[in-house]
Amino acid sequence: MQKKLQGQVAIITGASSGIGAGCAKEMADAGATVVVNYPIIQGKAMAETVVAEIIEAGGKAVSYKCDVSREDEVLLMFADVIQQFGTVDILVNNAGLQKDAPFTEMTLEQWNYVLGVNLTGQFLCAREAIKEFLRRGVNGKSKSAGKIICMSSVHEVIPWAGHANYAASKGGVMLMMKTIAQEFAPKMIRINSIAPGAIATPINHDAWDTQAHLQELLKLIPQKRVGKPDDIGKAAVWLASDDSDYVNGTTLFVDGGMTLYPGFEDNG
Ligand code: NAD
Repeated sequence: MQKKLQGQVAIITGASSGIGAGCAKEMADAGATVVVNYPIIQGKAMAETVVAEIIEAGGKAVSYKCDVSREDEVLLMFADVIQQFGTVDILVNNAGLQKDAPFTEMTLEQWNYVLGVNLTGQFLCAREAIKEFLRRGVNGKSKSAGKIICMSSVHEVIPWAGHANYAASKGGVMLMMKTIAQEFAPKMIRINSIAPGAIATPINHDAWDTQAHLQELLKLIPQKRVGKPDDIGKAAVWLASDDSDYVNGTTLFVDGGMTLYPGFEDNG
């Protein structure tokens, strides 16, 4: 049987760890050739480990170094990938980070750093992906000319004290995603977001590393388990495949119910 993403080329940003690595493995398993992006040379070994696991499992992958907050590097990554593989069919705009601080102590550097990667990085990669989708058009590998999945967060709707830069970046991702989905739907380009809840990755290690921290975290999750990168990877495969062909400009919350106001579980 034809795999759901057979023969398609997927760039996944920040894919040497966590959710990005989970998306890379699931998409490769669904038949995509996966570009495992990482930001700095020190990350190469981790990216190569993800590539090796994919190849070992029978998939296709390469690693590529690019800081998504830098326009020159993003332009070069898209040019190189298109030269090597002919096109790009799927972008998973996943790279992201936190630099937390109480609001009155947050430096402009912390603000700009998070916005630069989490929002500007998604803008730069989406722009280059859409240029390529428009150039190529629908080519028979998919009903769409291209698909973009923006990695947002439950914090696109849940305010988060001490994380104003991060929450603002994800709120920004939400309206950027919806705006470009509206702009390019007539061109058969589908753009959606995934809003993960708490997924066990390096970004939130402190939230689940001890039993005490884990029990606190589980109070926020009606389903009473922390998510895994493949929970997000499977959702990303669905959003990138023709199974979700009529889904455009929406955020899929994959959060074990975190956005269901668990504080009201017991009569409020
Ligand atoms: P992670 O730290 O494992 O992954 C983030 C990745 O982004 C890393 O591989 C890192 O190298 C990469 N990165 C950082 N700066 C970059 C840059 N300038 N260019 C390219 N890559 C860069 O954490 P994660 O949890 O897997 O996070 C992935 C995404 O999921 C982020 O956008 C994060 O905001 C989002 N998210 C995570 C959770 C969660 O609970 N883990 C929840 C909601 C949203």
